[in-house]
Amino acid sequence: MILILAPDTKTGSAEFRQLEEFLSRLPNIRHRIHQETGEQQLLTEVYLIGDTASLPVDEIENLPAVERVVRISEEYRVLGRHRDDQRATHFEYNGVRFGQDNLNLFAGLCAVSTPAHVETMMRALQEHGQVCTRMGAYKPRTNPYAFQGHGKECLPYVFELAGKYGIRVIAMEITHEQHVEEIRAALEQTGNPTGVMLQIGTRNTQNFELLKYVGRQRDFPVLLKRGFGITLEESLNAAEYLASEGNRNVVFGLRGMKTNMGDPHRNFVDFAHVPVVKRLTRMPVCIDPSHSVGSRDRAPDGLLDVMHVTAQGVIAGANMILADFHPEPAKALVDGPQALTLQELPWFLDDIRIAREAYEERQKLASRFL
Ligand code: PEP
Ligand code: MN
Repeated sequence: MILILAPDTKTGSAEFRQLEEFLSRLPNIRHRIHQETGEQQLLTEVYLIGDTASLPVDEIENLPAVERVVRISEEYRVLGRHRDDQRATHFEYNGVRFGQDNLNLFAGLCAVSTPAHVETMMRALQEHGQVCTRMGAYKPRTNPYAFQGHGKECLPYVFELAGKYGIRVIAMEITHEQHVEEIRAALEQTGNPTGVMLQIGTRNTQNFELLKYVGRQRDFPVLLKRGFGITLEESLNAAEYLASEGNRNVVFGLRGMKTNMGDPHRNFVDFAHVPVVKRLTRMPVCIDPSHSVGSRDRAPDGLLDVMHVTAQGVIAGANMILADFHPEPAKALVDGPQALTLQELPWFLDDIRIAREAYEERQKLASRFL
């Protein structure tokens, strides 16, 4: 059970003390407090854990600090959608809104190659009105002898160039807690010119100690990729690990599933799950068409497979797109064969716009029949 407190209820206030006293008298119930400090107000939620089935909801709702009671009916206590649950389905980070109702594109380099490539990429993004990108510094690779990313060495110039070109959020994969600290230090050293969304890759979806560590910090939002060989439920529980530790600024990423039945794509595209994740949870949903498809193959209609599956995700209501681009794909250090070129960026943007408009039309149509 979740108690949503009246906005701006202070933990030291008489109302709050009355609530605590009430809770302390309930047998076999523990509680945990979660606070979000927004620009306008302080929001407090109290999670009651234990034997909550027989609790007197009316009595609790009548306590002066309590605005609403949400009964947790399903799984995913913090991130899930429950009956009568009006908790937010969006968050803001560094001036960018991430919600189940909007769409952000993160086009960029799978792996940082050279400062010149980073700059060319970011300049193109700015020219096309983009404020987010992806930049890989730490690359978990299948082959231990393959390029592993430039690591912390590249962070200062990546962040400075982001500031120069108005990039507000960079999605960056981390595989170890030390990477979070390196990112934090480099941001401070460069004067916080940009923000970072920590990406947890598909190989680490169930790295629970990493999830707990990343969940305990609240400076950076998180993009959690679905595990490529586990059930959706297992991946959503992994996201709940982040939230249970305190960080609920989580975007859930679909990136295709590992099965040979997906051939000839690199992974079996799972973007039909966009609306499913939005129904089960309050997380915005990201799609990664590049790692799903894994090639620049083109259909007879002239469209690249990457563009086709992007449109399929967007028309189903996706909220974020993570896409590999490179100014010179032949010189990319990782995943060049699936990267789109900068000449294709305006085409990609227009194609996404068409799919998004179609999605919004479909939503309007549905509302007429509800
Ligand atoms: C990536 O986005 O660069 C990546 C490695 O993705 P995934 O974890 O989905 O394989
Ligand atoms: Mn990649």
